[in-house]
Amino acid sequence: MAIQVIKEKCVGCKLCLKACPFDAIDMEGKLAVINEKCTACNQCIAVCKFDAIVKTAEEVTEKIDLAAYKDVWVYAEQRDGKLMGVALELIGEGRRLAREISDSTKVYAVLVGDGIGHLAQECFEFGADGAILIEDGLLKNYTTDGHTKALYDVIKAKKPDVVLFGATHIGRDLAPRVAARLSTGLTADCTRLDIRLSSYIDYAKKNTTLDVTGLDPNSDDRGLKQTRPAFGGNLMATIICPRTRPQMATVRPGVMSKRERVPGATGETVVVKPQIADSDIRTKIIDIVKSVKEIVSLTDADIICSGGRGLGDPSGFDLIREFAKKVGGVVGSSRAAVDAGWIDHSHQVGQTGTTVKPKIYFACGISGAIQHLAGMQTSEIIVAINTDASAPIFEVADYGIVGDLYKVIPQIINEWDNAEALFEASVKKGIA
Ligand SMILES: Cc1cc2nc3c(=O)[nH]c(=O)nc-3n(C[C@H](O)[C@H](O)[C@H](O)COP(=O)(O)OP(=O)(O)OC[C@H]3O[C@@H](n4cnc5c(N)ncnc54)[C@H](O)[C@@H]3O)c2cc1C
Repeated sequence: MAIQVIKEKCVGCKLCLKACPFDAIDMEGKLAVINEKCTACNQCIAVCKFDAIVKTAEEVTEKIDLAAYKDVWVYAEQRDGKLMGVALELIGEGRRLAREISDSTKVYAVLVGDGIGHLAQECFEFGADGAILIEDGLLKNYTTDGHTKALYDVIKAKKPDVVLFGATHIGRDLAPRVAARLSTGLTADCTRLDIRLSSYIDYAKKNTTLDVTGLDPNSDDRGLKQTRPAFGGNLMATIICPRTRPQMATVRPGVMSKRERVPGATGETVVVKPQIADSDIRTKIIDIVKSVKEIVSLTDADIICSGGRGLGDPSGFDLIREFAKKVGGVVGSSRAAVDAGWIDHSHQVGQTGTTVKPKIYFACGISGAIQHLAGMQTSEIIVAINTDASAPIFEVADYGIVGDLYKVIPQIINEWDNAEALFEASVKKGIA
C-alpha cells in the first residue's frame, strides 16, 4: 500500500502538509509530494477536500529487479551493549535460510548503536558470516526515528534479500516503520520460515490448515515462506512477498534455536557511517527508568511450572511457586489465569504471551487451548496434570497425569525430596 497524490486534482492548499504527523509531504510548487518518511497512516487522505490523495495497492509501478537483492540480514538488537537472545537465535536461523537460498548467500548481523563494535565477534561465533556496523552517538539509545533512518538508508543502498527482526518491543516498533518506508511487506510473529518448497511442503502436509495443492517440490523458487498463526491462532497462514524486496519478518524470542557457539569464529565487518542529524530524531531521551517489577525470564528457563484456571483461585499460585522453587524452575501461567488477575502478564505463556522452549514444561490445570500450545509445544518434555482425561493438553504431553493438581503436585514435591535425600545419601557413600 502506498499513498499517491493525483497531480490533476491537487490544488496546493497544504492541508495535507499540516495534517501529516511524519513530515512526509513536501511542496513542489503547487503540488504536494509524498516523501520516504510516509508511513501510509492516511491522515492526509482524511483531510484532503479535493480527493487528490489516494491509497494504492499497486504502488510498485517500476518493476523491481529481484535478482539485485542478495543475502540475509538479521537486526542484531542490543541493549546496553548486550545482544538480545533472539538476535542470536535469528542469526542461526538466518544462516540456515541463507544456505538454502544458495551457497554464496551470506548472513549478516546488523548492529546499530554506539560503542558496540565488540558485539560483532559474538555474532560470528553464533553463525554470522559478517556484521554491518552502524555507529553514531545519536544511535546510542533506541529511537524509532534514528534507527529507522539508519536501517532504511543502509538497506536501500545494499539491497538485502531478507531482513529478520526479533518480535521484541523494539523489533515490533522498528520493523514495520522500515518496511513501510521501503514499500515492502512484513510478516509479524512468524513461527516458521522456509526457503525451499520441498521442505515447506513436508512441513505443511502435517498441518491441516495449510494447503499444498499445486505446489511443486522440485520448484527452484527461493522466496521466503513466512508462516504464522492467524485468526486468533485457529489456523496457520503462510505469507509470501513475491514482488517487492527485501522480504521482512519478525520472529518471537524463543521460537528459533541458537546455533552451537563456535569460539574464535571470524567474519567480515562492514562499517557504515550513518547520515544522521539531530533534527532527524523527534524523540529526545531525557532519562531511562527501568521497571523494578519482578523479572521473569521464561525464555531462558530450563524448567517451567505453569498454572491455569484449574488452580481455582489466585492462592493456587502459592503451590505453583513452591513447586517451581523445589524443581529449580520459574512460574508460568495460562492467559485465563492472567485475565482473572491471579498473576502478572509477564508470566503468560502462549500466542499473546511468551514463547518458551524449556527442557521440562509442567502444565498444571491448563486445558491446552491452541493459543497456549502455540507458546510451549516445542518444549523438550511436557508433563500435564489435569482432572479431565480428554483435555487437549494430553495430546501434546509426553507424560500425562489425570488427577487433581492439589493432590498430585504435593506428591511430586514429596518424591523430589525423597530423591534428593537418596542422592545425598549415595554421594556420602561415594556411589554417585
Ligand atoms: C487471540 C487470542 C490469544 C490468546 N493467547 C493466549 C496465550 O497467549 N496464552 C494462553 O494461555 N491463552 C491464550 N488465549 C486464551 C486461550 O484460548 C484459553 O482461553 C486459555 O489458554 C485457557 O486457559 P486455561 O487452560 O488455564 O483455562 P481452561 O481452558 O478453563 O482450563 C482449565 C483446565 O483446568 C482443569 N482443572 C480444573 N480443576 C483442576 C484441578 N483441581 N486439577 C487439575 N486440573 C484441573 C480443567 O479440566 C481444564 O482443562 C488466547 C485467546 C485468544 C482468542
